[in-house]
Amino acid sequence: MGDRSESDSRKLLRRLRDVLATPAKGQERLDRITHLIGDSMKTEVCSIYLFRDPETLELCATEGLKQESVHQTRMKLGEGLVGRVARTGLPVNTANAPAEKGFRYMPETGEEIFSSFLGVPIQRVGEKLGVLVVQSKDARAYSEDEIYAVEVVAMVLAEMTELGAFAGDGSAMGTRHKQPVTFRGSTGQEGAAEGRVWLHEPRVVVTNPVADDPLTEIDRIREAVGELRVSVDDLLAADSLDKEQKQVLEAYRMFAHSRGWLRRMEEDIQAGLSAEAAVEKEQSATRARLEQVPDAYLRDRLHDLDDLSNRLLRILTGQGKDTGATMPENPILVARNIGPAELLEYGRKLKGVVLEEGSVGSHAAIVARALSIPMVIHAERITTEALNGDVILVDGDQGVAHLRPEDTITRSFRDKIAMQAQAQERYSSLRDLPAETRDGQVISLQMNAGLMADLPSLVGSGAEGVGLFRTELQFLIRNQMPKRDELAKLYARVLDAARGQRVAFRTLDIGSDKVLPYMKPNDEPNPAMGWRAIRVGLDKPGVLRMQLQALIRAAKGRPLTVMFPFITEIAEFTAARSHVFRELHRENSLGHPVPERIEIGAMLETPSLAFAPQAFFDVVDFISIGGNDLKQFFFAADRENERVRKRYDTLNTSFLNFLEQIVERCKSTNTKLSFCGEDAGRPLDALALAAMGIPILSMRPASIGPVKALLRRVDLAQARSVIDRARAEGADCLRQPLTDWLSTQPE
Ligand code: PEP
Ligand code: MG
Repeated sequence: MGDRSESDSRKLLRRLRDVLATPAKGQERLDRITHLIGDSMKTEVCSIYLFRDPETLELCATEGLKQESVHQTRMKLGEGLVGRVARTGLPVNTANAPAEKGFRYMPETGEEIFSSFLGVPIQRVGEKLGVLVVQSKDARAYSEDEIYAVEVVAMVLAEMTELGAFAGDGSAMGTRHKQPVTFRGSTGQEGAAEGRVWLHEPRVVVTNPVADDPLTEIDRIREAVGELRVSVDDLLAADSLDKEQKQVLEAYRMFAHSRGWLRRMEEDIQAGLSAEAAVEKEQSATRARLEQVPDAYLRDRLHDLDDLSNRLLRILTGQGKDTGATMPENPILVARNIGPAELLEYGRKLKGVVLEEGSVGSHAAIVARALSIPMVIHAERITTEALNGDVILVDGDQGVAHLRPEDTITRSFRDKIAMQAQAQERYSSLRDLPAETRDGQVISLQMNAGLMADLPSLVGSGAEGVGLFRTELQFLIRNQMPKRDELAKLYARVLDAARGQRVAFRTLDIGSDKVLPYMKPNDEPNPAMGWRAIRVGLDKPGVLRMQLQALIRAAKGRPLTVMFPFITEIAEFTAARSHVFRELHRENSLGHPVPERIEIGAMLETPSLAFAPQAFFDVVDFISIGGNDLKQFFFAADRENERVRKRYDTLNTSFLNFLEQIVERCKSTNTKLSFCGEDAGRPLDALALAAMGIPILSMRPASIGPVKALLRRVDLAQARSVIDRARAEGADCLRQPLTDWLSTQPE
């Protein structure tokens, strides 16, 4: 950039800052700014378009176009050249605008006489706010320097828009972050909550976009980048990193050491921006460019660069995660993503969680489930929109979050919460009653658990023990392998809380979707059918043995129940079982008390085990059907793949026929049988499972009430005959016949 344009742009920015520093109404400021830009760039037209809603832009100020068109001229995202700039986030520069593809003629503005057009986005870190346009009569393309100068001005406008400098009448000039926005994502955990936003990582606020002294600013940015490089190098030096973390950090390091990045920021500073504004300008530009890239890998890198820019901004502004803000009452956590340990740290304080990313099977979702915190995932762009303290409604059932909702929405939402609370009250009145059907059959309802956070539910839910304790959660939420004594203490606390009720501890079930942060991940083509669960336990028995020792010590002589995950054949079970005996023997010889009784069971999660030889049924103490995995292998439908997951119904006749065979085999061999997949917690599915003869159902604590309420309403033998009749008539799914029958049953 030449010296002249450099000083021009600095001069322009200084004048711009003076306008912004003078008290004035939003409209007046915008008018002055368009005049100022037009004047200093020697263009006939300068216009500012702002978004009035996410799809529509509105002309908010102009120098050179007809004043009557201000607040009248509007265009859709993508429409015309202005709409194109807004949609792509990239500048459009043309000497002959009317000849451009997509040019839209707007007679009300008198635009046809202007031939050249330069439009640049007004955007702040990926948040599109509007478009800044300059136009001239003569047919000339604007120079690189001119484009750059307009971009720098647009950056300052973006910062000031964000700070509410142009707030005024009309939707497009409404103060930022004030309007209601609805985010449609997916369900992470059901439930509804009303509260106020608590940002996991609050946005950095830049209040000084323009700076007078480039030398000082350049010193600041160099120093901050230096600090950033050191911090990334430190992170990389940690030895607990897995391959993936390392790759991400390597990418960070590459960006942090990129000369181009620093050089561009220094140029921005030379043009008159402060160090902070320069970081944001480059962050926005890279985002806009990369958002055009369909490649997932590059998009991930976009996130990396974004993270890095945020770190740099935090170094520059001194605004850490802790901004000194106090957490509001009924906090709803809003974040791009969050790890299970961090979520657990917040604990039950949170009323809800809304994430931009995440997945149903993610560890954060598992924790949210354990804590019964409603959670919405895939709420795109919520971290850009939400501010700390904003009112927010989380509808985990629908996977929707309403930010700054209208009163009507809030009212109907509160009705929904009240209804749920009423139902909850009804369920808690059943807490101490058995799940006894009208015809006198008693089903044992137990709970699934895995975290200390689950323990209060043992008493609160009315569960008759823990049918599945997923021990891997304790491994997943840590940064390093837990120690034996630590685990022994924890398991002992679980047993204490159970007060003599049975707790089925399932040994470590890792692999597949559960990858320990501190273990080398295996690149397997198909991890769900790969080296997981008991397969890992038997091949590398160190951890399994340590866990068994911890369990035996935790029992302190009390009865103990151990369950092995993902057993597919008898040999695996007998091998796992002999590890138990070996450890019992060892603990005994070390003088530790051994459990007075020990039950050793297997999870039936693959069809093969249902066809195991008689000897298996003779030796196993109990079987628990892991319906989540069993269904995925029965139907060959990945449980993590939304597209196929819901395609096959648990009440599909073939699946129930299969369960019936398992029930028969267990009956004939006198083997205790339970079911502990998610389906056990869905009332109608639970009814079908009970009707098929499964006497123990283990589910999330929150499901016990609804399942019990339904079971107590029905005659189980009748439900079974509805199933049998429908099967005999050739129904391929029992959901409808059962639902129809249920609607005829008294409440
Ligand atoms: C199952 O597969 O049904 C089960 C209970 O185990 P997990 O969901 O932990 O794989
Ligand atoms: Mg499983």
